[in-house]
Amino acid sequence: MQANITEIFSSIQGEGPYIGCRQIFVRFSGCNLRCEYCDTDHRPVKMLTCEELLQEINSLNIISHHSISLTGGEPLVHSDFLSEFLPMLSDLKVYLETNGVLYNEFRKIAPYVDIISMDIKIESSTGQQLPFEAHEEFIKVARFFKKEIFAKVVVSENITDEEIRLIKYLVKDDMMLVLQPMDNKCPADKLISIQMNFLKDIKDVRVIPQVHKYMGLM
Ligand code: SF4
Repeated sequence: MQANITEIFSSIQGEGPYIGCRQIFVRFSGCNLRCEYCDTDHRPVKMLTCEELLQEINSLNIISHHSISLTGGEPLVHSDFLSEFLPMLSDLKVYLETNGVLYNEFRKIAPYVDIISMDIKIESSTGQQLPFEAHEEFIKVARFFKKEIFAKVVVSENITDEEIRLIKYLVKDDMMLVLQPMDNKCPADKLISIQMNFLKDIKDVRVIPQVHKYMGLM
């Protein structure tokens, strides 16, 4: 089996609570969503087999890395490939960056994943309808497999009260919520007041921008 992979590289995690951790990134091509702010890389892809991908990862001095980050695009578009590949990966934690929609695909690989960074896709920033039911099912799968999961929302100043209500319903009080400001589209005072609102119902709410962009990293 093969998958379309845009790039494989070693760098630091630039988003969320694992910021600064050294990771091996495997960026898969293709996505099931069309977010307006998407900056997906359209470089040509390599078609790799599981064995070829493993060989490329092993050439990156894996011992000095915190985990392997499966990113995209949307890695779960390649769930059949991943269900063959992940059991071959014994020495690294698996960190899944996902849009949190493809819950049936996630179920196939959940036992092999250690940490899930799940987006909640709200219409005020993506331009697409919030996939509420899919997000809800996705979280149920993560809870069933007792996986570490946190939610990340790209926030602009246009976030609505209804979106805040639905996010609170999804996250409840036992997941961390990361508010990631959309580039130049959410003033600091607005972000702080959005965080205060979430903190009324969720214990751990953090405002974390994308640091790799400040540092000029990939
Ligand atoms: S889910 Fe991610 S990769 Fe897919 S369209 Fe949205 S921002 Fe782009």
